[in-house]
Amino acid sequence: MLNRKIFQIALIILALVGAFRFFYIPVKIQVDKNNAFFVRVRILHDVNELSISAEKRCNIYDRDSGDLLIRKASIEKHNEVFSESSAIRIGEMVFDSLGVRIVPSQRSELDINGVFYRGSLEILKTEKGFDVINRVELEDYLKGVLPCEVNCLWPFEMLKAQAVASRSFAVFECERRKNENYDVTDDTFSQVYGGHGREKWRTTKAVEVTKNKVLGYRGRVFPAYFHACCGGHTQDIACLWGKHLKPLKGVRCPFCRWTPYFRWQAKISGEEISERLQKYGYPVNNITAIKAGKRDASDRIKYVSIKSHNQWFEIAGEGFRDIIGRKLLKSGNFNVKKYPFFYLFSGYGWGHGVGMCQWGGFSMALRRWKYERILKYYYPDTEIINMKEILLVSQ
Ligand SMILES: [Zn+2]
Repeated sequence: MLNRKIFQIALIILALVGAFRFFYIPVKIQVDKNNAFFVRVRILHDVNELSISAEKRCNIYDRDSGDLLIRKASIEKHNEVFSESSAIRIGEMVFDSLGVRIVPSQRSELDINGVFYRGSLEILKTEKGFDVINRVELEDYLKGVLPCEVNCLWPFEMLKAQAVASRSFAVFECERRKNENYDVTDDTFSQVYGGHGREKWRTTKAVEVTKNKVLGYRGRVFPAYFHACCGGHTQDIACLWGKHLKPLKGVRCPFCRWTPYFRWQAKISGEEISERLQKYGYPVNNITAIKAGKRDASDRIKYVSIKSHNQWFEIAGEGFRDIIGRKLLKSGNFNVKKYPFFYLFSGYGWGHGVGMCQWGGFSMALRRWKYERILKYYYPDTEIINMKEILLVSQ
């Protein structure tokens, strides 16, 4: 009788383990045998040459086969790297390979064009030259991101909120792009990364005290997008990228109202606008009026109406920002006024507006909000979890 019961319990446990394994896989993308999580950051794209030096000797591997090409190569002085017809040249060494991986010994660093990077490096041939990818541990990567994304002198709770948001975004991207050559770029298309050379003590501390903490939503790591300043209301991700995510529906944000990027203005002449539109194939040469069209729930304009040769035509608000330049039109929430020699664009906020408003978070932290509360405000319905414990749902 007892044996039968034990047998039944064992069967139930086996069934549960089986179901669990079927639905979930552990976070193992980019994880090595020491359980460290790696991020592949593309730091240079389609370049034809670069300068590299290593503090200590390096092993050089073929990137695709993993074969060791040279053991303990010396790249001590600044060596030039070139892409040759079917090879990659590093100083005097020539590798008949489409890609090489340079792994420095004992966690020493690599100097690429005068910038120090932790981790290893991949040089991959492309049609126009080669790409350079820094493979770096997630926590080290974040230490090089935070000082580029926020001011290291900001209140510590906001630095912690940024660390969790940046970690969540990076892990999400690693999962999304696991079959591609890299996970993130080092610019604003992902998050800005300056390598070891940009690290600052306070931001490093914020990364360390939030180690492994990410935002989770419905059992998965959440893409915690962020931007500089929302201008009063964060943007619904559906309006911008067509995705529907409940925590990114947009929230009212009175917190960034007094911060430096809340309002902006740009004077642009009609001729300049015509020229830029022509470059994108619009048949305009004499603009006589520009009007901001309908707005979404966050007050960002859906389209811009332009009058040329007595005809009106419309351009999507974000498309118009792309054409004129995102440095000039800092956000999609703006008005237009015509003056004799130019159009005056007056707007609110800076950036795409989705997710956390960094200047809003700064203001909350000054009011003694804890980082958990800041994150909960901008990403409602998410929770802070340990990425080592969360299991990503299998694709
Ligand atoms: Zn805001």
